[in-house]
Amino acid sequence: MDVATLRKILELERKRGCRDDAVLGGLDRYLQRWALEFPDGLLPVSYAALNKRQREEWVGTVLDRLNGVKTGTVERRKKDASPAQHENLDEPITAVKGISTNQAAKFRRLGVYTVRDLLYLFPRRHIDYSKMKTIAELQVGVEQTTVATVWQAQVARLGRRRSTEAVVGDGTGNMKVVWFNQPYLAKKFHTNAQLVLSGKVSLYKGIKVFQSPEYEPLTEDLTHTGRLIPVYPLTEGLSSRVVRRLVKETVDRCAPQIYDFLPQELRARAQLLELSEAVSQAHYPESESLKDGARRRLAFDELFLMQLGLLSRRREWRDGGRARPIKPDYQVIQAFVDSLPFALTGAQQRVMREILADLAKVRPMTRLLQGEVGSGKTVVATAALLGTAACGYQGAFMAPTEILAEQHFANVSALLARAGREDETQESLRTFSGILPRQLTLALLTGSTKKSEKDRVYQATSEGRVSMVVGTHALIQEAVEFEKLGLAIVDEQHRFGVMQRTALREKGSNPHLLVMTATPIPRSLALTLYGDLDLSVIDELPAGRQPVRTRWLEPEQRDRAYRFIRKEVGEGRQAFIICPLIEESEVIDTKAAITEYERLSTEVFPDLRVGLVHGKLKAVDKEEVMRKFRERELDVLVATSVIEVGIDVPNATVMFVEGADRFGLAQLHQFRGRVGRGEQASYCVLVAESPTAEAMERLSLLERTHDGFVLAEEDLKSRGPGEFFGTRQSGLPDLRMARLSDMGLLELARREAARLFKQDPQLSLPEHRALGQEMARVWQDGFTGVEA
Ligand code: ADP
Ligand code: MG
Repeated sequence: MDVATLRKILELERKRGCRDDAVLGGLDRYLQRWALEFPDGLLPVSYAALNKRQREEWVGTVLDRLNGVKTGTVERRKKDASPAQHENLDEPITAVKGISTNQAAKFRRLGVYTVRDLLYLFPRRHIDYSKMKTIAELQVGVEQTTVATVWQAQVARLGRRRSTEAVVGDGTGNMKVVWFNQPYLAKKFHTNAQLVLSGKVSLYKGIKVFQSPEYEPLTEDLTHTGRLIPVYPLTEGLSSRVVRRLVKETVDRCAPQIYDFLPQELRARAQLLELSEAVSQAHYPESESLKDGARRRLAFDELFLMQLGLLSRRREWRDGGRARPIKPDYQVIQAFVDSLPFALTGAQQRVMREILADLAKVRPMTRLLQGEVGSGKTVVATAALLGTAACGYQGAFMAPTEILAEQHFANVSALLARAGREDETQESLRTFSGILPRQLTLALLTGSTKKSEKDRVYQATSEGRVSMVVGTHALIQEAVEFEKLGLAIVDEQHRFGVMQRTALREKGSNPHLLVMTATPIPRSLALTLYGDLDLSVIDELPAGRQPVRTRWLEPEQRDRAYRFIRKEVGEGRQAFIICPLIEESEVIDTKAAITEYERLSTEVFPDLRVGLVHGKLKAVDKEEVMRKFRERELDVLVATSVIEVGIDVPNATVMFVEGADRFGLAQLHQFRGRVGRGEQASYCVLVAESPTAEAMERLSLLERTHDGFVLAEEDLKSRGPGEFFGTRQSGLPDLRMARLSDMGLLELARREAARLFKQDPQLSLPEHRALGQEMARVWQDGFTGVEA
């Protein structure tokens, strides 16, 4: 270890106020490299997770130690604690023999940078080529494998293309093999060579033919044929053969070096495969059951590390310091409630009580408020902000997009104007009287707030003249200072990373935190995904809402749906058209959406104003299109599934979803929630090309049910928890295998995490040391992922 550099970095870090910015990407990454050389117990589980005081203390301790070190290197720790070889897993993949810099660049497109990434590049699925048959036994149309001798291989013209054609045989007979467009193979296959061929067989003029099968020379250790063969995600310039070969070499060489960070005792109790075994078997399983075992182990790891991280964050937040108790002035709250043009629902009242009770405590609130679109979360949030302001504290309300922030600003303004009266209207600062004994000021702060306005808001906020600020990420910019932030609210929180949530919180000293989401998630799962938060649910819609009429149509009826859209537009309404989810690839989905948009705007609705949003648009462009739609400059909005969650376009009355069978019920319900927000009757039209029986069942459930939680439970039952993970990706460690896992495993992971956390929350016991390092690594990656 280079002590001089480490000392310099730590000194810099101390000088900068321990903000974890002395090295790019944060200190944890850097420290990780020296993990094994640190004296016992000195390395924190995660530096990023420490608070300022803990960081200062730690940096001080290490510097003291280092200053006591005279030589250039710290004595290496003995190897037995955890093997040192695993260090090299974090080397770039070019360290693997046979991977060129050119290939490495292509692998980066798959998110693979290091050897570890390559080991964790798991196949999407496996093809079973393990069924070895003689040529006589080969059946038409089934995936199978045969070992045969090449009698003859030559280049052949098939149509206009040059291909390779071969005759192969074994003791039971001969057959033909064709590789289209690969004339170079003819030279590769010498007469009498033994080939393993895997693929589907067809019959041509009574002769069995393998068409472009997988192939390789017969060896002991097969890569492409004769076993369960992995199917990897690919990218341009990396063929499946190349990826398989490189992954196989890497797995063979490096998987045995992976150190299992799970305590032995836990592994035995949970009946989990050993880690290096699991990684190997995930790629080239010896059997179906080992393949499943590998997935189970790897999914467990993801869920378990996630749970541990959430538990420690919860503890840090709750025990990190005292909050300012905000004893709500019930008179003010009551007056506000009385001023509303409607009565609060029972659920709103209950949730409001829960929040107000939390605010009054010295332990900072960390609460998640779940409630469907339109369930009235904003009213509850406003009441909490008002309670905070009444006690002389400030509140911040952060939304993921400018449109949503502006919407909230307008809504909160309107509610306050009703409760009292508005004195002064400026673009970004509004004052109200008659609500509190003094004036109440509300501010708006977004990226596009004018510089001069921004400066005024900054000034007023830092001096405490502003009681509530609504805004976007702009709220967590350096320049924003609060005099005394008491409550931080984060809306549509799945759009934010944990980092941003934390950043907002750090604008005050242990402010109360309320995060809100419109995504209904079954309670059992919410406890897991939001293990760091307390849960409040608004499970009741205001009375008198018209349900969105939902119809599932056959593809042949699509024209009817288009005519219907045209009719609604003719009456001044607007429509959404959601494009199908094609693959788990934003690029492909985007391409498909563009094609669909072109078709719709030129062939179907040439006379209407049609717009398009997709995930590849820049945020400003996306906002611009959404704004146009909201301001009725567009009649029809074509969108991929990325479309904004909370956007309020009361004039939109039709939600048309293509490829509806590809979406989960919860997500379809989300789409549906984007209409039916105005006075007019609204409609949701679903089209599915060739749905399975099960998909038909689900679509018809959607026609009948409007309760998001019922639909979410159904999703959980039929599609597993993977459906919901996407709603919370940012800021969490990657969940790859967990998507395939079941609820039982999730609960096991939660139990084990709670158990371990109770026993050793700092992971300071020697048997948890490797686990602590893995935590730091995984959560650090999660954090940096967010900022990208
Ligand atoms: P959310 O943020 O949960 O999507 P909002 O708070 O924006 O919902 O409320 C949606 C609409 O319903 C708003 O126009 C709001 O004024 C109205 N609303 C809220 N609570 C009630 C209620 N209890 N009764 C009737 N209307 C309500
Ligand atoms: Mg909302």
